[in-house]
Amino acid sequence: MTTTQHQQDRGDTVRRLHRVVQARPSRDGDGVLIQRIAGADLNADFDPFLLLDEIRSVEGADYVGGFPPHPHRGFETVTYMLHGTMRHTDHLGNTGLLTDGGLQWMTAGRGVIHSEMPQQTDGLLHGFQLWLNLPAADKMIPARYADYPATALPQVEVPGGSVKLLLGQWQDLRSPVATGATAPLYLDLALQPGAALDVPLAPAQQAALYVYDGASDELASRQLGFYTGGSLLRVRAGPAGLRALLLAGTPLREPVYQHGPFVMNSPREIEQAIADYRAGRLTD
Ligand code: MN
Repeated sequence: MTTTQHQQDRGDTVRRLHRVVQARPSRDGDGVLIQRIAGADLNADFDPFLLLDEIRSVEGADYVGGFPPHPHRGFETVTYMLHGTMRHTDHLGNTGLLTDGGLQWMTAGRGVIHSEMPQQTDGLLHGFQLWLNLPAADKMIPARYADYPATALPQVEVPGGSVKLLLGQWQDLRSPVATGATAPLYLDLALQPGAALDVPLAPAQQAALYVYDGASDELASRQLGFYTGGSLLRVRAGPAGLRALLLAGTPLREPVYQHGPFVMNSPREIEQAIADYRAGRLTD
């Protein structure tokens, strides 16, 4: 009996793809070429996530400018580097070197000022930055930074592929990364042509899949799909196989006001963030 048959015997239902969003080329930082998925219209489907960026280039000119010192307030960033090297430094004195397969967690909370700079001048740079919203009650918590080398992140073989656990729990594995109220699940999936993987989800969890190589039976490369309505998400690789990021989390259902690197719950809080930054007290 296959896993799929077993789960269907238990009455599980497969979530339905209900929306597809295409990543679009953009530039951020000092002219870094990225593929971006973000926007206020996404919030209802993507909540508790706010943004997903992919950096991928073999041309140093696309990324050498990096992301010089800049502020954030009100959310958390999760940076996952597949290939290449990125150095983080922040106002707290944290430094971290993100290398192949490593993950960096940063709680901006009430305020952080950091830089994210590629430490190579050429060669493949391929990584992702995810923005995870904080609940209103936690938006002004102290900033926090942690990084995890590839060897700290569990990886498990599955029929026809493998699953790397970045955040949350997968089967009997638990990510070493401490997370908060939105209980994010973040998986990096590799599936061979035609292989399928079922990921159980709680009814309250929102779920999305971003294909970055190959295709699924429903999504092309660089598409983010949103899934609704069932107790498991079935990922089925297309004829070329697939590499994809799976995201799930408990939505906050709170107002979202974003101004550049600040994400708060009201226009007044945004004005406060801007005023605090200009006055040099964002991180106080
Ligand atoms: Mn940043």
